[in-house]
Amino acid sequence: KLYNMVQDLKGNIRVFCRVRPIFNSEMKGVIDYIGKDGSLFVLDPSKPQKDARKTFQFNQVFAPTATQDDVFRETQPLIRSVMDGYNVCIFAYGQTGSGKTYTMSGPPGRSATEMGINYLALNDLFLICDKRKDMMTVVILDYISTLDIRTCSSEDDGLSLPDATMHSVNSTMDVLRLMEAGEVNRAVSSTSMNNRSSRSHSIFMVHVRGKDTSGGTIRSCLHLVDLAGSERVDKSEVTGDRLKEAQYINKSLSCLGDVIYALAQKNSHIPYRNSKLTLLLQDALGGQAKTLMFAHLSPEEDSFGETISTLKFAQRVS
Ligand code: ADP
Ligand code: MG
Repeated sequence: KLYNMVQDLKGNIRVFCRVRPIFNSEMKGVIDYIGKDGSLFVLDPSKPQKDARKTFQFNQVFAPTATQDDVFRETQPLIRSVMDGYNVCIFAYGQTGSGKTYTMSGPPGRSATEMGINYLALNDLFLICDKRKDMMTVVILDYISTLDIRTCSSEDDGLSLPDATMHSVNSTMDVLRLMEAGEVNRAVSSTSMNNRSSRSHSIFMVHVRGKDTSGGTIRSCLHLVDLAGSERVDKSEVTGDRLKEAQYINKSLSCLGDVIYALAQKNSHIPYRNSKLTLLLQDALGGQAKTLMFAHLSPEEDSFGETISTLKFAQRVS
């Protein structure tokens, strides 16, 4: 409860930034400084030293050395607030290859210590359920879905979910099995469709039903969203369906930014209807809902342009 008071003072939207390691030691990085207070300095490689530094401020910044556990520990209070009846949405934003899936799911073939937020969050909710057995708290996992952009047009605001499946789960093991099944599907389609996962939003929806201490009903949800890659595509290089897909992604991501921005400003009109993604998440984003955006960065010099655009997107919604 104290946590919720603190969060209410901070507002319902927070942004964490995570910088992944550089894998090729030949590459130069652009990250100059990461502060415990959430400050981040980056260096523009095209500018002389004295003008190169750009500074940003977030709720938290995770350095390349941060473990999955470090990240989860900071996210856990938010996830637990679902059990107090709050709706929570967690988004992973960033260019393809910046670590979105690593944060949400973990690396391919992950070990127990490399599990991502999806698994750790569910595991935590089940643990709390067990402790509150007398209150008959249940967790139902409703969907593992992929918003398949091939079936969406940028004008489309329908709510059909082509790949959505509904499941009821009772343990973390059930969830693990489902997540693995989901990833097998994605892996199969990614080889046949040129890395489709970077071109679709993957949404994991968890619904909680239970009773609070005074016998009232709790109905809340946790939405875990691994967004499509935010990189801009060069219009001169792509045409046809690929261009339509890119435009659809750009539009849905900018609409998401607009919605979160409008919520942060406490505007009376929130433009949920401008994209399928925001319409789908409408109930989970408004009112008392809590939102966490992970802004992922690829720290190499050649990603500087995308890094700045990710940081600007994240700064605007925070
Ligand atoms: P995205 O989902 O944004 O396209 P991935 O999560 O697939 O990116 O990450 C790209 C690669 O970098 C993967 O091989 C992933 O395992 C690795 N990676 C990403 N973030 C980290 C991290 N924090 N620590 C170690 N490896 C990481
Ligand atoms: Mg990914």
